[in-house]
Amino acid sequence: MLDKTLAELAQGLAAGEFSSTELTQSYLDRIKAEDGALNSFITVTEEQALSQAQAADQRRAAGDAGPFTGLPIAHKDIFCTEGVRTSCGSRMLDNFISPYNATVIENFNRAGAVSLGKTNMDEFAMGSSNESSFYGPARNPWNTECVPGGSSGGSAAAIAGGLVPGATGTDTGGSIRQPAALCGITGLKPTYGRVSRYGMIAYASSLDQGGPMARTAEDTAIMLNVMAGFDPKDSTSIDKAVPDYTLTLNDSLKGLKIGLPKEYFSDEIDPQITAQVQAAIKEFEALGATVKEVSLPNSHLAIPAYYIIAPAEASSNLSRFDGVRYGYRCNDPVDLEDMYKRSRGEGFGEEVKRRIMVGTYALSEGFYDAYYKKALQIRRLIQQDFVNVLTEVDIIMGPTTPHPAFKLGEKTSDPVAMYMEDIFTISLNLAGMPGMSIPCGFANGLPVGLQLIGNYFAEQRLLNAAHQFQQATEWHRQTPAR
Ligand code: GLN
Repeated sequence: MLDKTLAELAQGLAAGEFSSTELTQSYLDRIKAEDGALNSFITVTEEQALSQAQAADQRRAAGDAGPFTGLPIAHKDIFCTEGVRTSCGSRMLDNFISPYNATVIENFNRAGAVSLGKTNMDEFAMGSSNESSFYGPARNPWNTECVPGGSSGGSAAAIAGGLVPGATGTDTGGSIRQPAALCGITGLKPTYGRVSRYGMIAYASSLDQGGPMARTAEDTAIMLNVMAGFDPKDSTSIDKAVPDYTLTLNDSLKGLKIGLPKEYFSDEIDPQITAQVQAAIKEFEALGATVKEVSLPNSHLAIPAYYIIAPAEASSNLSRFDGVRYGYRCNDPVDLEDMYKRSRGEGFGEEVKRRIMVGTYALSEGFYDAYYKKALQIRRLIQQDFVNVLTEVDIIMGPTTPHPAFKLGEKTSDPVAMYMEDIFTISLNLAGMPGMSIPCGFANGLPVGLQLIGNYFAEQRLLNAAHQFQQATEWHRQTPAR
């Protein structure tokens, strides 16, 4: 029962093959036995999970079960969860028990989901390898000497390692898609505004977006059905009807127009990745799609623009962590200033401090026009590139990452080398468009991800294309040796 997808587990629960309590207990046992090697969870909420499972079983017995009732998942530790520590991977929030639920958590609770716990992540979602977590890195189940990617690395590692069938993530510059690619699972970053950010601890508010991670496109569709929707508590949430994302999964791909940006197929990419991605595109052609070369001429500017905009927003968002209201406070401060300085100095890790410094500098008087304003202008050009190309084609495809998973420690001393791992994912957050990563092969025994990019609110189309690919291939069914 533990190797089934969410869709299969839902069937099993509905058919009475097992109860949610049995299912939940089996997952909890597996986490206990195996997460020592992966470190994919920061907090396992055993008691709460079992009581949610019991409630789900009762609801089912009463004939009141919905499609998600009794299904176990986990949440990235960035989503505020009432009564549960919500650390955001930081010492700053190590002692923070959230007094309220994020809207995403509320939505899953209402659907009757069971939460097994909170997953590991880069500190405040800043990173591409999970190594900036205060709780130590999560590890890649395909090779535990390698990183699982980041920042939603705990969610990806837990799913790939079979410790949970689905989990939430957040994506500011690639943090759902990049770990999904590196761990060989499926991840979807929705259109900005599709999933509420209320209660999702802010990194860079104009880029942050929550989304589902699971083994299959069908499972991410089932999760997105629960997650998506208008939320009056989030001022950037969009009031637009949510379709049932599972209804269009089986539409034909005949005539689907795929664009391949020439900038995404350069020699700096691992040739094995390029080969796997090209083979996947052939598969789409066999399913009836047509392919043409397109160009996103400003894509090389995405990383520099992002590393002004994201730190600028972070420096403002993270100013709330001052040792006064909640979170970490240093011992024995001599005065107020000492308390601010030491609480922040001791509570934040190195990467977070680097971003706060860069962001504060970029926003300071005299530099604002040269850096921040310029970055916003580039952001608009990048968005325009996507808008132009997506009038000619339905979906843009390419590799999710330039390389497969790298070794722990390999890039920690070179932040720019780390930032370059997001070269294909970051531009989409600047544009606000949806994107997915699905498994499409292996390079040296490590998973390779194919990225699918669509126009605003084209989640149905992405999920449909991904599902059809997964009906025709077996890559998403591969699991690491256990
Ligand atoms: N790796 C990128 C960063 O460090 C993106 C992270 C994310 O999407 N949260 O900012």
